[in-house]
Amino acid sequence: MTTQEMNQAFEQAYGRKAEKIFFAPGRVNLIGEHTDYNGGCVFPCALSFGAWLLIAPNADKVLRFKSLNMPQEYSIQLSAISPQPDRAWCNYALGCIDIITRRHPEAKLQSGYDLLYFGNVPAGAGLSSSAAMEVVTARAFTEEMGWTLADDKKYRTELALIGQACEHEYAGVMCGVMDQFASAQGKKDHAIYLNCDTLEFEHVPVKLDGIKVVITNTHSPHHLDSGAYNDRVRQCHTAVEQISKVKPIKFLAELTPEDWEQVEGAITDPIAKKRARHVVGEVARTAQAVEALKQGKIELFGELMTASHVSLRDDYEVTGKELDTLAEAAWQVEGVLGSRMTGGGFGGCTVSLVRDEAIETFKAFVGKEYEEKTGLKADFYVAEIGDGVMRLE
Ligand code: ADP
Ligand code: MG
Repeated sequence: MTTQEMNQAFEQAYGRKAEKIFFAPGRVNLIGEHTDYNGGCVFPCALSFGAWLLIAPNADKVLRFKSLNMPQEYSIQLSAISPQPDRAWCNYALGCIDIITRRHPEAKLQSGYDLLYFGNVPAGAGLSSSAAMEVVTARAFTEEMGWTLADDKKYRTELALIGQACEHEYAGVMCGVMDQFASAQGKKDHAIYLNCDTLEFEHVPVKLDGIKVVITNTHSPHHLDSGAYNDRVRQCHTAVEQISKVKPIKFLAELTPEDWEQVEGAITDPIAKKRARHVVGEVARTAQAVEALKQGKIELFGELMTASHVSLRDDYEVTGKELDTLAEAAWQVEGVLGSRMTGGGFGGCTVSLVRDEAIETFKAFVGKEYEEKTGLKADFYVAEIGDGVMRLE
């Protein structure tokens, strides 16, 4: 859909023209999985698909929410901004507006607004359509409410934190900050090496001559539910506690693979030991992968992606049949440099590095293997690494 078509849709919906258009991207994490809440780094990049928001102020002291992706429409009085029931989609937007005023009391909502959203991130694929929606809303309304920062990096980090707080308070999902951060700080043809604990980050060029990032959607109904997620968090805590008896640490990410050999004997719980082994290995792999990319060693980067999947499958146990089938089929294709699950796990997507000339074979072979082994159909997206949130018009 073009912005011209979106403008027409806005006019049809509200009977007048939109005043401004904003865009924020979805994201994919290239490596560094389940490291974020262990004090480690992640390495996501923003995608060229995401969420668009068109807005115009109104004279009615009301926020009207419409989406080209959703049948429900909402009308919220300015005096009654609070979480809406029944998993209302407007929560991802309304929450941001509320949180802007709470984090920045000088920000003022001067009038009501008519809003129209459009998204093209595949739904429920774990590519963060929700973060895109939050960040685009935070970007638009900080500007409308008269609170921005001259320091662009700090401003974008704050947009990510507003989005994350919205997800916690209005959607009830206690996520880390990676998704919103990638959507806010993305940069074309760069990935973001981010420490989710300190929010220090670095844009690293992703030069892929003749190679594409291919995202494969499992369309699996399985998700990493909050129970399985919380179990992993707890098991990592157990490992930290037991390790701390021989070497005091706050996070597993503080341990190098050499440290690990010294301390692993202190973990008596065998499950906690496996979980911790993944985290320590993944933190080191992510650092190594970033270094490989900087040195143009793209084959090594691919191998580390594959090693990440193996660790998530065998030690962290968050892959499941669908993701394993996709990754294991991808590894067999000549011209695939690496392939791994991305996101929380069980369902969602894999991310693969594939040489241009192998893309058709990759789709055909992986698609066929997947359908034969799971009865499901996979979808493929050849991803472009795009910029973070922006105003378009
Ligand atoms: P994801 O992994 O894509 O972030 P979530 O379940 O976290 O999946 O977020 C998806 C939810 O975000 C949708 O159910 C909907 O409520 C909201 N959402 C995302 N994009 C849009 C959109 N374009 N219009 C309306 N709501 C949207
Ligand atoms: Mg989400």
